[in-house]
Amino acid sequence: MPLHLPPPLAAALWAHAAREWPRECVGALGGWVQGERFEARTLYPLSNVAAAPERDYVADPGEFLRALRAMEAEDLSLVGLYHSHPRGPGSPSASDTRLAAYPVPYLIADVTRRRLSAYLLPSGEPVEMIGER
Ligand SMILES: [Zn+2]
Repeated sequence: MPLHLPPPLAAALWAHAAREWPRECVGALGGWVQGERFEARTLYPLSNVAAAPERDYVADPGEFLRALRAMEAEDLSLVGLYHSHPRGPGSPSASDTRLAAYPVPYLIADVTRRRLSAYLLPSGEPVEMIGER
């Protein structure tokens, strides 16, 4: 199922990745499922509280909960989670796959190639991205 990420949200995601570099950024996307696709409408940057944020990400649990509540208040639901790989690659790491817990696309921003990819995890199935280029 494809994910539609409007260009302003993609721009906000890249700005977040640039702000956090050389650390990984992490955030959530709110929106809805429309027919056969995920529609993203809001972006929530979260703090990366991983012990080694240069090569790992853990979203601040309190901030994540507040983001989910903000979505709920606007009748939105979680439609994606993003993080950056400051030095690539654009594919999920072993821990990205192991720690994935939500049935939504996981977006990975490969900062070296400025390329955004999305996957369902843990299966690793690629998710087509619409509107980010
Ligand atoms: Zn990763």
